[in-house]
Amino acid sequence: MEGIKIKRIIVEPEAYSYPFTQRILKKLQGIQVCNKIENNSDIDYVPYDPKKDVLHLLIYKGDFLKPCPGTKEYICCKYQILNIATNCPLDCSYCILQAYFNHPYLRVFVNIEEGLKEVLKIIDSKKDEIFRVGTGEFTDSLALDPITEWSDILIPHFSSRKNVILELKTKTANIKRVLSLPYRERIIMSWSLNSPFICSHEEHRAVSLRKRIEAAAICQREGFVTGFHFDPLIIHKNWKEEYLKTIELMDKYLDPSKIIWISLGSFRYMPELKNIIIKRHKKSIVLNGEFIKGIDGKMRYFKPIRIELYSYMYENLSKWYNDLGLYLCMESDDVWSESFGWSPKDSNGLKRFLDNRVVKFYG
Ligand code: SF4
Repeated sequence: MEGIKIKRIIVEPEAYSYPFTQRILKKLQGIQVCNKIENNSDIDYVPYDPKKDVLHLLIYKGDFLKPCPGTKEYICCKYQILNIATNCPLDCSYCILQAYFNHPYLRVFVNIEEGLKEVLKIIDSKKDEIFRVGTGEFTDSLALDPITEWSDILIPHFSSRKNVILELKTKTANIKRVLSLPYRERIIMSWSLNSPFICSHEEHRAVSLRKRIEAAAICQREGFVTGFHFDPLIIHKNWKEEYLKTIELMDKYLDPSKIIWISLGSFRYMPELKNIIIKRHKKSIVLNGEFIKGIDGKMRYFKPIRIELYSYMYENLSKWYNDLGLYLCMESDDVWSESFGWSPKDSNGLKRFLDNRVVKFYG
C-alpha cells in the first residue's frame, strides 16, 4: 500500500461482529486494536491532527446514498455520493474535509454490505432515472481499497445494472483489485489531476501525476471508461505552462475517446479552512491570491480569474480532443457562458448533459 500506514485500529463494540470488520482485522493482524475511543482528548485535537494513521471501524446509521452537498446558488451536477467512509489517508493541503468533518480518524463503515442493499433498492425502484454514483467525495475511492476491498463489494452490483454508473475517484495507483475483477461495464475509473507543481507540492501522500496518468492508461487498455477532475484549479507561478504540461502528459498516455468527462473547478474553501491550512501545511501556496466570499459563503477567486482559468483549460483540452465532456463544478450560468461559450443553464440541464454522456458510452 503505497504511502498508507495504519498504526492503530479502533473498533466500536457493535461493529465487531460484522464480517467486514473481521476481514479487516485479519488483514491487519499485528496492528494495535482498541475497542473504543479511549478518551475525548483524541477528539479535541481535531482539526489540527486528523490522525490519518488510525482506522476507526464503526456502523453508519444514516443514509448511505446522499445527493452531493452542492448549493442552490450554483449549477450542480446532481451527483450521488455513496458514503462508505469519511476522512482520507492522503493529505492534500487544500482538502475541504479538514474543516468539513468534526471528528478525526479514517472512519470506515462496516455495515456497507447492508447499506448497499438499501441503496440498490432505491436505484432499482427508479429504473427511468440515471444514477451517477461516486465514493470519492468524503474519502479517496481507492486509497484504502487494499485493506477494505471496497471494489470487490461494490463493483459487481453497479456493473450489472443499467441505470447507474459507479465512479471511483482517486489520486492513487491502487488499481490492482479493480483490474482483477471481471467487470468493466459502468465502472468509471477517475483521477483527480492538477499541474505537476501542485501535485508534488500540495497533494501529500498522493502518487505523482505521471503515475496517476499511467494508471489511467492501464485502465483504458483494460477496457474501462475513464474520467478526470481538475479540481481545484489553483493560480500559481507559471500556471498556464504548468497546466499545459499535464495536458501534454495526458496526450502522451491516454486515449481521449475513452474519457467520459472532465470536470473543472477552481479552489474554494470554507473560511474555517484557512487557519487549518496555515497551521498544518506551512509551505502551501494555495492561499496566495485574492479571494472573495461567494454567495454560498465559501471563499473563491474573483470571477474574472475563474473565467480565465476555465477558458484556458477549456481551450487547451478541446484542442487536444473536442469531445471530452468538459463541465464546471459549482459555477454560475454566466461563468459557464463566458468560459465555455455555452451553459446548461441550471442543475437539471447539467444533469441531462452528464446523463447523456453516460448513455453515449454505455447505451
Ligand atoms: S485525495 Fe481528496 S479527500 Fe483525500 S486528502 Fe486529497 S482532497 Fe482530501
